[in-house]
Amino acid sequence: MFFWIIIIAILMLSIGAVAKVNDIQKHLEEVDENRDETIRKLNDLYKSGLLKKSELKVKKTEHKRKIYLDQLSEHLHKLHGQGLLTDDELDEKLEQLHRIHDDHEDVVKLRQETGNEDIVCLAKDLGDEWVCVCGVKNDKTGYPINCTNCNRSQQFVFNYYAKGK
Ligand SMILES: [Zn+2]
Repeated sequence: MFFWIIIIAILMLSIGAVAKVNDIQKHLEEVDENRDETIRKLNDLYKSGLLKKSELKVKKTEHKRKIYLDQLSEHLHKLHGQGLLTDDELDEKLEQLHRIHDDHEDVVKLRQETGNEDIVCLAKDLGDEWVCVCGVKNDKTGYPINCTNCNRSQQFVFNYYAKGK
């Protein structure tokens, strides 16, 4: 009986993880390639031989990703307009979104190297606070310091997952 409970729990967790990945993929696929000006330009460059197939693919994904992040930013502003996010919450989440955007290339590399799909940005020192690779800002209080969200240690992420490491 216990054995089956474990198996069912593992199955449910895997389904959850797959659903999350599909969700992002779905957003990227939602961009209508025929109506998007930038995608049309990229396709023209590919047809003329100026872009390789691999370059076309990377640039399309990159462009769609940018559209997706813009949408997320718009969502945050709308929720703020409806009073569902305070000024501070809006600022904090926009800041988080920009970090995700800025570190994208490093994040892709880090995810491949470590297999940790929850990494969304590099570790950052903000003076009194530090940003974990999971995107959450933490206070620098107490020791040893671990992220309040993913429990990674501050020292570990700065040693291995910061800029220039
Ligand atoms: Zn974390």
